[in-house]
Amino acid sequence: MSRVAIVTGGTRGIGRAICEQLKADGFTIIANYAGNDDAAQHCEETTGVRCYKWDVGDHQATLAGCAKVAEEFGPVDVVVNNAGITRDGTLHKMTYDDWHDVMRINLGGCFNMSKACFPGMRERGWGRIVNIGSINGQAGQYGQVNYAAAKSGIHGFTKALAQEGAKSGVTVNAIAPGYIDTDMVAAVPDNVLEKIVAKIPVGRLGQANEIARGVSFLCSEEAGFVTGSTMSINGGQHMY
Ligand code: NDP
Repeated sequence: MSRVAIVTGGTRGIGRAICEQLKADGFTIIANYAGNDDAAQHCEETTGVRCYKWDVGDHQATLAGCAKVAEEFGPVDVVVNNAGITRDGTLHKMTYDDWHDVMRINLGGCFNMSKACFPGMRERGWGRIVNIGSINGQAGQYGQVNYAAAKSGIHGFTKALAQEGAKSGVTVNAIAPGYIDTDMVAAVPDNVLEKIVAKIPVGRLGQANEIARGVSFLCSEEAGFVTGSTMSINGGQHMY
């Protein structure tokens, strides 16, 4: 029986590439998403991955969603906390809702998914949790106090939970992507994006499958000695 993996925000962008990679690696994949049913349907039709809708920032909805997945497919051995949003703006323009939504979904989602799946992984003596952080959680970014704080929080969350899982065969790691060519980055104005790309030593945006390859390694049997780490995949932009 193949191991069951949930990829949050798995229907588009980086998450979708992670689903495709982990499926090729032999996992049974469930993609979660928030509300874009068309993208989810397209994902199901083109990848064969089953897609389930719930808001990872909603604690009860996440517990219920994960319980449903476990009931249908079996115990969840792998969680990739990839779902994330931006609500950019300088501090003086940022509303409390902009702050709270990003903290609730980007950081709270990691807590909610881990509450649902980590205890079972520990009991069964094997598990993999991979949290998608960001270069902007490592280095900060103008206009992103909410996003940078949430992503930075993910890196601390990862190191703390790694210590709780280490003796039970559960590894917890993070990946900090640099700028990757997805819808999220397409929302950045062209003139700003040009300046960003100019600062990437390899001279281009990353591709979603380049993040997926890192996730694939961290979810493998062979990565059992890697825990509490952050893998930076950023074209050399920030050497942390
Ligand atoms: P996209 O905006 O392309 O896709 C986001 C995915 O997350 C979608 O599937 C979306 O679902 C889902 N999602 C959003 N909110 C929720 C929620 N509340 N509950 C469940 N699912 C949700 O993002 P990317 O692929 O660009 O980014 C993926 C991750 O990588 C994010 O955490 C992002 O912060 C991080 N990252 C991205 C970088 C980049 O350059 N792109 C750089 C560094 C980090 P739906 O389609 O229904 O909206």
